[in-house]
Amino acid sequence: MEDRKVIIETGWNLDNSYANLPKLFFSKQVPTPVDSPKLIILNDHLAAYLGLNVQSLQKSDGVAVLAGNQIPKGALPIAQAYAGHQFGHFTMLGDGRALLLGEQITPRGDRVDIQLKGSGRTPYSRGGDGKAALGPMLREYIISEAMYALGIPTTRSLAVVTTGESVFREAELPGAVLTRVAASHLRVGTFQYAAEWGTVEELRALADYALKRHFLDGDGTENRYLFLLQEVIKRQAALIAKWQQVGFIHGVMNTDNVTISGETIDYGPCAFMDTYDPATVFSSIDMKGRYAYGNQPYIAGWNLVRFAETLLPLIDDNKEKAAQLAESAIGEFMQLYHSNWLSGMRTKLGIFNEEAEDKILIENLLSIMHKYGADYTNTFRALTFDDFTDMALFDTESFAEWHEKWQERLGRQEESKDSYHELMKSSNPEIIPRNHRVEEALEAAEKKGDYSVMEKLLDVLSNPYAHSNEQAGYVALPEKSTCPYRTFCGT
Ligand code: AMP
Ligand code: MG
Repeated sequence: MEDRKVIIETGWNLDNSYANLPKLFFSKQVPTPVDSPKLIILNDHLAAYLGLNVQSLQKSDGVAVLAGNQIPKGALPIAQAYAGHQFGHFTMLGDGRALLLGEQITPRGDRVDIQLKGSGRTPYSRGGDGKAALGPMLREYIISEAMYALGIPTTRSLAVVTTGESVFREAELPGAVLTRVAASHLRVGTFQYAAEWGTVEELRALADYALKRHFLDGDGTENRYLFLLQEVIKRQAALIAKWQQVGFIHGVMNTDNVTISGETIDYGPCAFMDTYDPATVFSSIDMKGRYAYGNQPYIAGWNLVRFAETLLPLIDDNKEKAAQLAESAIGEFMQLYHSNWLSGMRTKLGIFNEEAEDKILIENLLSIMHKYGADYTNTFRALTFDDFTDMALFDTESFAEWHEKWQERLGRQEESKDSYHELMKSSNPEIIPRNHRVEEALEAAEKKGDYSVMEKLLDVLSNPYAHSNEQAGYVALPEKSTCPYRTFCGT
């Protein structure tokens, strides 16, 4: 007799194409079961996009999957191998505390990685415990979802569960597992690993896989591997320009944290800049400011050179020719970055068309913002709404002069005031995940088990261009503090 009980299927529809790559690219590894998983937060919208049933995910079987206690149908858990330059030094890495469950094929046919982060030790854990603490996982959830809402390519966060176990860092902390969703987890570091420890055929298999997964197989191009390089360069140029436009500082732009898909990945020590200053660094371990805000485009260029080096044997058998082709592709990066940046900054100032002097107009604004210690986000918000109060910058002669030039510039375009106001509204966020707000939400969650502060914050961050009354309460800057904000790697 058939069981009449209705079982809601969660909707896992997993494939494992990455596991068809040569063996050197991964190790099979099951997650380490945890004591008592509890769902802390679930991303309903993302679940729906993935074709997953929210009610079913909330039930104990659903949560067991998000904690690594149960393996969903079709999953083949693996730890991915990769290498990377960390602060300039090349080293072997790999998923030390993460596992790829598989690739979910979504109802609309997209293929996205489902990864558990904090799911226990793997062959790549080195000295680490393979675990993650609740605070950093919630931080990744908040910031990655804020980035998504800002319109910036990023990995996403499906859920955070606590494990009922402690992890030991500088203190005893509640353990957690984050479910990360990504276009893929292919990194520049994956190619570095292949180039260093694989054969040319293994490297080619990886490059073919990346082309198939992200770049329509490179169909119709003369040199597919050069095309791969050019496309990754394009995506990174667009990505970094977007970071700069919202004042996002990644904090740890090591080559293992640079995706081939062009998504932002690895929300460890990242943070958003308040006061505009190109030298801003938040990460406690970035002593020399290698990954400072103003350095991000140059570091991206450096990382892409590392990527180009890995592809040389595939680009051409003739070493000189390969180097020449790769160099000319790399040579495009700064120009591409700059034109992305310029067009984005034009929209922030309500400018539709192009004039040669626009760059100077933008740079002059940034220079006086820097001089007078203006808040980055709030300056553009003030320009959007003609609301020049509360900021020293706005009382200066330099600003008055700049403002006049800007008004003249706007007057030289055909578009109406209404249309450039709309352009500015959709280009300048009302709110960003400001550090003090994120900290406040994490503190309530970690110390009191109160997740309402975080939920409220996530709600206002989910549409940063809404400019709603509710968001206005989040515009305020942190109290002046003598001690600069510091972030830590999410270990
Ligand atoms: P990340 O700083 O998150 O980019 O991590 C750098 C490397 O350290 C990666 O290979 C991680 O998998 C590994 N790692 C980070 N935290 C841990 C941990 N708690 N246990 C094992 N490996 C870790
Ligand atoms: Mg990383």
